[in-house]
Amino acid sequence: MFKNLHIKLTIVCTIITTIILVTVTSICLFISEKTMKKNEYATFLNNTNSIFSYIQEQNVISSQWYFESEHNSDSIIEIDDNNNILLYCSLGNSNIRRELIDRAKEVSKEQFNFNFDKINYNKTTNHIEYNFSYKDSNYYGSSATIPKDNSFVTAIIIHPLDTFERKLHIQRILFFLLDVASACLLFTFSWFFTKKTLKPIEENRKRQLQFVSSASHELRSPLTVIISNASALNSLVKEEHTTFLETISSEGRRMSKLINDLLVLANSDNTSWSMNFNIEDIDTIVLNVYEAYEPLAKDKNINLSVDLPNNSLIKCLCDKERIYQLLSILVDNAICYTNNDGKINISVEYNKKYVILKVIDNGIGISNENKEHIFERFYRADNSRTDKNHFGLGLSIAYEIVKLHKGNIKVCDTVGGGSTFIITIPIDIQQ
Ligand code: ADP
Repeated sequence: MFKNLHIKLTIVCTIITTIILVTVTSICLFISEKTMKKNEYATFLNNTNSIFSYIQEQNVISSQWYFESEHNSDSIIEIDDNNNILLYCSLGNSNIRRELIDRAKEVSKEQFNFNFDKINYNKTTNHIEYNFSYKDSNYYGSSATIPKDNSFVTAIIIHPLDTFERKLHIQRILFFLLDVASACLLFTFSWFFTKKTLKPIEENRKRQLQFVSSASHELRSPLTVIISNASALNSLVKEEHTTFLETISSEGRRMSKLINDLLVLANSDNTSWSMNFNIEDIDTIVLNVYEAYEPLAKDKNINLSVDLPNNSLIKCLCDKERIYQLLSILVDNAICYTNNDGKINISVEYNKKYVILKVIDNGIGISNENKEHIFERFYRADNSRTDKNHFGLGLSIAYEIVKLHKGNIKVCDTVGGGSTFIITIPIDIQQ
């Protein structure tokens, strides 16, 4: 499912970014071509002006000048003095040259009514510029009547555009190749980007599946016991029912605790935990937990103690019920995983910004390998798997509570053996 989604997202990302890229490069290409065309035309106009001025000023036109002018301006120039072509310096095949000049004359006459025979009495050159095509090629043309002393000459300049058009063509190919290369790069980028984006979603889904399968597994075992005990009741006389009914009821309670824990965690995933933040007295919450667990600790002959700061009451913005739940989980675990005659201490410290709560026991301790996993759902260290009332959900709930208080929870070893859980909660979580 994720593989398909990954491919689809990559394709969509690539298409969208490529469309944007192609639009931008097309606009750039359009602007660049427009500027190039403008420049080409301006150069042509410059060349024609200087050629016409030269013709007007000079009495004798040398073949050297003629050749150089044709060569430098990459043009065909024809000067006609009273139907006498002055010089004839071909840039190529003379037939094509003749045909082009005839075509240029035709365009000048047809489109601009330009009269090559009309006497130019003005002292200024009379000229027109135009575009024309001939045999699939495009040209700029300029026709002029240029006044001389008492007469005038006509001139035609033709500038082929094939070199310029080749340049445009090469530029288009370069832009196209650039687009193709960029599209390939964008595809590669999208591939890795979408993979990275989907990874947390994929992991979350895996965790959810794992959670559901662990939950079903945990629920199945008490149910099996309840069903087998219930069916055993049928074959027994009433007096023998008590043990089976006790088992059914204890397994029922176990299931109910598990379902409660699951609901708590499911709600935290939906971020729908109702939190009731108030400025609370942390000392009082700690003492309440102490009082609740003292009898349980006594049963195991465990010394449960509390260390509170001497001089002041610690106030903190928190949810009283949740902090009580958090400490209960830690103290309950401490009692469970500490041998008879052990010691458990709950301590409260604070500084300007944080309240630091510690639950220190000298119990069986937690190996470094297990420390990395104990906050995961349904994780139980090997040595606690046999305990039927521990499902491996307590510390996950503790972790969620601390997270909702924008705090931090960690575990380390107690000096001399055992575990120490340290919780740091900001005094004012809105800071
Ligand atoms: P459980 O309900 O099984 O105690 P928790 O999430 O509270 O689940 O704890 C996860 C595991 O962490 C426990 O199974 C146990 O192995 C280990 N653990 C938690 N607290 C302690 C402790 N104080 N001392 C030793 N091991 C502990």
